[in-house]
Amino acid sequence: MGVTGSEVGARPWEIEMGNGHRIVIVGAGYTGLFTAVRLAHRTRGTGTEITLVNPSSRFVERLRMHQLAAGQQLADHRIPDLLAGTGVRFVPGTVTAIDPERRTATVDGAGALPYDTLVYALGSSTDTSNVPGADTHAFTLNSPEVAGRFAARLTEVAAAGGSVSVCGGGLTGIEAAAEIAESHPGLHVTLISADEPGAMMGATARAYLLRALDRLGVTLETGARIGKVLPDAVELADGRLVQSDVCLWTAGVRVSPLAAEAGITTDERGLIQVDATLRSVSHPEILAIGDAAAVRLAWGPLHGTCQSGLPTAQHAADTIARLLRGKAAKPFRFGYFHQPVSLGRRDAVIQFTKADETPRRLHLTGRFAVAYKETVSGSPLLTYRLSKRVNVTTAVSKGGRATRTPAA
Ligand SMILES: Cc1cc2nc3c(=O)[nH]c(=O)nc-3n(C[C@H](O)[C@H](O)[C@H](O)COP(=O)(O)OP(=O)(O)OC[C@H]3O[C@@H](n4cnc5c(N)ncnc54)[C@H](O)[C@@H]3O)c2cc1C
Repeated sequence: MGVTGSEVGARPWEIEMGNGHRIVIVGAGYTGLFTAVRLAHRTRGTGTEITLVNPSSRFVERLRMHQLAAGQQLADHRIPDLLAGTGVRFVPGTVTAIDPERRTATVDGAGALPYDTLVYALGSSTDTSNVPGADTHAFTLNSPEVAGRFAARLTEVAAAGGSVSVCGGGLTGIEAAAEIAESHPGLHVTLISADEPGAMMGATARAYLLRALDRLGVTLETGARIGKVLPDAVELADGRLVQSDVCLWTAGVRVSPLAAEAGITTDERGLIQVDATLRSVSHPEILAIGDAAAVRLAWGPLHGTCQSGLPTAQHAADTIARLLRGKAAKPFRFGYFHQPVSLGRRDAVIQFTKADETPRRLHLTGRFAVAYKETVSGSPLLTYRLSKRVNVTTAVSKGGRATRTPAA
């Protein structure tokens, strides 16, 4: 870090111009897919080759994973269909290694893909390694397959009038607990959280959220550190047991070790350290976006959300397109705008925020909030479709003057 806006234009760029420039994007989640489609539009006719790699050809809507866990069916979006007409080559497979010296990404079943520019968009997943028993006795929302198995188990437990613990009181845990309670009224749902759920919201929105969880019959176990996950209970650090026939783990985040293994500079969590333009500080031909990038703005680090991830994807595509045209890259600017939280299918609360994510007074609740949240959840797919023809802007706020010079 430590690159100011004025220095950005003065940096020498190693990116090679001209026809045949090979761009490999690893990870086709929310951000990788957006970069691919936008870049294809922005480089049309220049001979640039864009390749997108992802283990599954199904596009995973992580924003809706809690719906899957509660037993709802989601639409099936195929990555090749979403790329149709863009000219982007889709390679199904898992990236197993990156060699920044040779400039290759090795893909299981497809060998080594050479690149001139690499976009690293491998996202993140829930970390079950910090608490004993979480990886063996708890389900996660890390993939549609695991969420589907959890949904099947939940149906069995609900039929027997049993109980479920949702561990982690962040937005994912709140949305999951509410969705499960609404879909399975006979289940006893406990949300276990170190902090009060909605602690990041303003007092009025938080009170609404807590009333909604209460109405849905969700029991709160707050101020509780989890010691262990057992086959039939969650053991709190103070020794108390929360009986649960099934457990959903939503706390903590981890990222792929590939970047660190490749010698790319990462932070202590394994996120790629980037400069003000989202290029790796150690390997400027690599751009990192979304949950896998350590992006720091004047008010602090970005944390993994689609709200901030899509603008990083947009910026990466624009940076590459600019560099290919011989222009200087611009610094990334972003400010948060809202915290949308679904509370089942019939209720939601939207907390509007300042750029640094502190709450404003304005919030939405009830059916207006439900419609708002649904629009937000569906907007990435609409963005991909529109981006084949026009440059869509995904950042509502640029963060104001304060973010123009990223902090060191
Ligand atoms: C239940 C839930 C609800 C959420 N709700 C919200 C919300 O309301 N609002 C919000 O802003 N954010 C929300 N988030 C967070 C949001 O989903 C993430 O911030 C977002 O998905 C990050 O996008 P990404 O492209 O970085 O990663 P992802 O969308 O996770 O995509 C990463 C992609 O990389 C692929 N990949 C991983 N490893 C490899 C490999 N070795 N080789 C090839 N490909 C690989 C993965 O398969 C995946 O397709 C939610 C998350 C969850 C789990």
